[in-house]
Amino acid sequence: MAQNVSSFMENVVAKNPSETEFHQAVEEVVESIWPVLDKRPEYRKAKILERVTEPERVILFRVPWVDDSGEVQVNRGFRIEMNSAIGPYKGGLRFHPSVNLGILKFLAFEQVFKNSLTTLPMGGGKGGSDFDPKGKSDLEVMRFTQAFMSELFRHIGPNTDVPAGDIGVGGREIGFMFGQYKKLANEFTGILTGKGLNWGGSLIRPEATGYGAVYFAANMLETNNDTLKDKICLVSGSGNVAQYTIEKLLDLGAKPVTCSDSGGYIYDEAGIDRDKLAFIMDLKNVKRGRVSEYADKFSSAVYTPVNRDLDYNPIWDHKADCAFPSATQNEVNAKDAGNLLKNGIFVVSEGANMPTVPEGVNQFVDAKILYGPGKAANAGGVAVSGLEMSQNSLRYNWTREEVDQKLHGIMKSIHDASVAAANEFGTPGNYVNGANIAGFVKIADTMLDQGVV
Ligand code: NDP
Repeated sequence: MAQNVSSFMENVVAKNPSETEFHQAVEEVVESIWPVLDKRPEYRKAKILERVTEPERVILFRVPWVDDSGEVQVNRGFRIEMNSAIGPYKGGLRFHPSVNLGILKFLAFEQVFKNSLTTLPMGGGKGGSDFDPKGKSDLEVMRFTQAFMSELFRHIGPNTDVPAGDIGVGGREIGFMFGQYKKLANEFTGILTGKGLNWGGSLIRPEATGYGAVYFAANMLETNNDTLKDKICLVSGSGNVAQYTIEKLLDLGAKPVTCSDSGGYIYDEAGIDRDKLAFIMDLKNVKRGRVSEYADKFSSAVYTPVNRDLDYNPIWDHKADCAFPSATQNEVNAKDAGNLLKNGIFVVSEGANMPTVPEGVNQFVDAKILYGPGKAANAGGVAVSGLEMSQNSLRYNWTREEVDQKLHGIMKSIHDASVAAANEFGTPGNYVNGANIAGFVKIADTMLDQGVV
């Protein structure tokens, strides 16, 4: 048995070489839960930590398909079935050229604790492909997703593993994959979440991650008797999470001033209002265009293209109150975190998964700002996916108000459980420790109940 965090991590690194994002995600959790292991020796005896850092199953497969010019393309498909202690594997599929085993293992690992926090019975998984949907025609996307599902379908099921969307996987991709699953399995069942409303989807699922991240920020502010009203907010990304983060910020009277894509970002000092948000949604979801076009349309905005020579991201270098990183992992580096603090940011609520590097997280925690890590703050998406599964089992649909109310309640219970665990282990206000500990204890106790499997 490893004697301390660093010797435990040496083993993880040796066993999983080159998987840097996975090492990063594991180390953060292990640091938080080490005091719990000291208090609960039965977890050490049952090797809970060694078991939760090893996926229950990894599926890796070839995805051959034919592009519009008739050329054969070969991508790689993955599904990481990380932990099924408390329910069927659940977590998104990511289609992005950067996808590799280490990134998906980090995401699956995070998902286990996130799902545990939601209070719903869902295990953790993640999957995807190095396929890049950008610049592909609808027919190419359809052929690829059908090829992807032709293998994945034999590994998933409504009581086994229920994937959802993530970067590069939205309503269009879920639709094509659902159609292919239905054809191959000859079964109409709740095999994916994020489905269309006509065929088993849930109201509020598209909105859930962004809305949830804003509810989480509001919950954190409430501990200081404060609200989001009139707060100036930096948002990164312009996809699913960013769009609905902006929408909910507007609902609650805040002023979002930025959004971005992989080409650059816009800063709109006048604020992104509802009409401008409608433009972004049409640009990104229908026209599949670039965020730079926002600045062509609205003169109040300045577009700054990505500059790879800079050692910081200028989107995080504006005066504001709150930040909602909603694009991708490690998008806030140590210098960015310093810039955010320097510019007066006192709330960070992470819509993306692990968007802040560890040195950045430490700066937020040391500065004692209201910092909601992704595992807690972005759990609204998977929570409503869980509610979609419940509605599919019931063969019934709840109203928009019912789902939103449940989402609200779940985000509040995640917040309160994180606060309580942080207090219990002597680090009040530290949502990183709180979320990791609260998520872990439920999984660990369940694994003890279920024996060595
Ligand atoms: P989308 O594909 O809808 O949007 C992603 C956005 O981030 C796009 O604007 C994209 O720009 C940008 N982006 C992606 N990769 C990079 C990169 N390497 N550098 C700069 N910009 C990048 O994805 P989502 O909104 O669904 O996901 C965003 C984040 O939220 C991810 O971290 C995801 O894991 C997390 N998340 C998502 C959930 C969901 O329900 N969808 C649930 C919980 C977490 P471009 O178009 O140029 O690629």
